[in-house]
Amino acid sequence: MSDPGLRRDLERAAGGPAEIDIPFSRMTTIGCGGPAAFVVAADGSQTLAAILDVARGYHLPWFVLGLGSNLLVADDGWPGVVIRLTGKLRECRRRGDGLECGAGVSLPRVARLAWKEGLTGLEPLEGVPGTLGGAVAMNAGAFGMSIGDKVTWVEVGLPGKVMRLDAGQLGFAYRSCRLPPGAVVSRVALQLSAGDRDDIRRSMKVYLSRRETSQPRGVRTFGSIFRNPAGDAGAGELLERAGCKELSCGAAAVSGAHANFIVNGGGATAADVIALMDTCRRRVHQRFGIVLEPEVRFLGDIGLKEME
Ligand SMILES: Cc1cc2nc3c(=O)[nH]c(=O)nc-3n(C[C@H](O)[C@H](O)[C@H](O)COP(=O)(O)OP(=O)(O)OC[C@H]3O[C@@H](n4cnc5c(N)ncnc54)[C@H](O)[C@@H]3O)c2cc1C
Repeated sequence: MSDPGLRRDLERAAGGPAEIDIPFSRMTTIGCGGPAAFVVAADGSQTLAAILDVARGYHLPWFVLGLGSNLLVADDGWPGVVIRLTGKLRECRRRGDGLECGAGVSLPRVARLAWKEGLTGLEPLEGVPGTLGGAVAMNAGAFGMSIGDKVTWVEVGLPGKVMRLDAGQLGFAYRSCRLPPGAVVSRVALQLSAGDRDDIRRSMKVYLSRRETSQPRGVRTFGSIFRNPAGDAGAGELLERAGCKELSCGAAAVSGAHANFIVNGGGATAADVIALMDTCRRRVHQRFGIVLEPEVRFLGDIGLKEME
């Protein structure tokens, strides 16, 4: 990693700076996590493929970061290359009855463009604070719809190459998508339907206000801590019934607005957050015999304890 050629080669591939030791606490919505060894921006699909090729050549792991809204990174950081999508990979335009977008565009921007174009289907995602690429990787969804329902194809970057995959090849399932190992989504095509702009706007407002009354607002948090288990009760309900809403660890606390969210009250460490997640998980297991699985993604030397 101290190889002086590495930074130079990353910068050459990216056509811009490779920043070093940038703390994830500045790049994630929960606001904790140690430094990333390198952070580079890819402003197009070929640039992305070239960056991945350099990382592979140096046997260095890479990680594509969206808006960091579903991510917990270890306090001692992560020793690889973090890639952010910029430039052309944040553009979005209409194509027939759908949209073709760079994967770095934010979901609220995609939802608003759809509304302006009189295209319906994305209203439930208004207010989800991630990128389109992150949403595809997580098969993000809300109020009964998931992004995978709307995807027709994605373009992905791999070391030295760019390829297109149809939605059928991606195995979309509840909050998951089967991308090839190491693939970075660079562009996404969405199929929507023609709709009335006023109806679309109204429905976006309804979804947004449902979100605002049921989730924490204006605080540092990430998305749902745990996936909903099989059965009728969601993770939030199980956590609330197990008394988790009153729990905290250091500056990390379970949200009073929704028990499946953790809030960083200021200065929480990733160790605080993971300890709180462990406690919540144990409580639900003791009370209901259900083992909750994390929805938030982990990066670096961090993870939940094994359940006994
Ligand atoms: C207040 C709040 C409310 C939320 N509500 C919802 C909700 O209703 N529904 C929901 O599903 N989620 C919700 N989330 C979680 C989150 O916003 C989504 O999962 C979002 O899609 C993640 O996008 P991101 O760009 O922030 O991804 P990140 O958190 O940056 O990354 C998440 C994962 O996706 C991968 N990834 C990111 N970009 C790409 C790419 N281009 N190619 C391949 N992999 C990629 C990352 O490597 C990582 O593994 C919420 C989060 C918050 C903070």
